[in-house]
Amino acid sequence: MNRQLPPVPRRMARLPLNKAGYVVPWFVGWVDGQPDFRVIREGGIHDALRFRLCWLCGQPRGSYATFVIGPMCAVNRVSPEPPSHRDCANYAARACPFLTTPGMRRRDSNLPDNAAEPDGIMIRRNPGVVLVWVSRNWRIRDDLSLFHFGDPVETRWYAEGRPATRAEVLASIDSGLPLLREHAEQDPRPAAALAELGRQHARALELVPA
Ligand SMILES: [Zn+2]
Repeated sequence: MNRQLPPVPRRMARLPLNKAGYVVPWFVGWVDGQPDFRVIREGGIHDALRFRLCWLCGQPRGSYATFVIGPMCAVNRVSPEPPSHRDCANYAARACPFLTTPGMRRRDSNLPDNAAEPDGIMIRRNPGVVLVWVSRNWRIRDDLSLFHFGDPVETRWYAEGRPATRAEVLASIDSGLPLLREHAEQDPRPAAALAELGRQHARALELVPA
C-alpha cells in the first residue's frame, strides 16, 4: 500500500501492530499468535458493553457512541459491532485496508471453526464507502447480536481513505438496496416492511453529502 496513512490517534497508539505494520484494533482475535481481522476476540462484545470500552482501542468510552458502518447500515441503522470513540472510528474508516480498498474482498476461507456468523442483514461484500456515525442514543438487542442507533449528531462518509463524493455515496446505497428490498419481501408482512424500507431509505438520503 503506497497511500499515506493518517496519524494514529493517541488511544490507539499503544495497540500492537501486525506484520504488515497495521494497528491491530482491540476487538481483533488472535489465532496461532497472529491477529485475524475477521475474528472477534473471545468475549469481545460482552466486555466492550460491560466495561463501556471502545471497540477499536479498548479504552473507556464517553457518552457519545461512534459506529463505523457501510451504507446499508445507514439505511436500517444497525451495526453488528459495538461503538467506538469518534477519533478511533475516523482513523479506522481512513486506514483500515478492508474498509478503504474497494477491490479487496472478505476472505472467508480458513476461518476458525467457532467463528460466529453475524446476525441481521449482513451484506458480505466490500461496500467501498464507509460511514462514521456519531450518536448519543443507541441500544443493543437482547441477544447482543445487533446494535440499533438513533439520529446522528455527526456523519462522515469516506471512500478509499478520503472523504467520499456524493456520487460515490449514492452509488453505494443504490447497489445495496436490492438486497434490503429482497429481505423486506420475505417479511411476514411484506407491504409494511417495504413501506418501512422506503421511509428508511429517504431518511438515509438526507445524510448524503451535498
Ligand atoms: Zn477508542
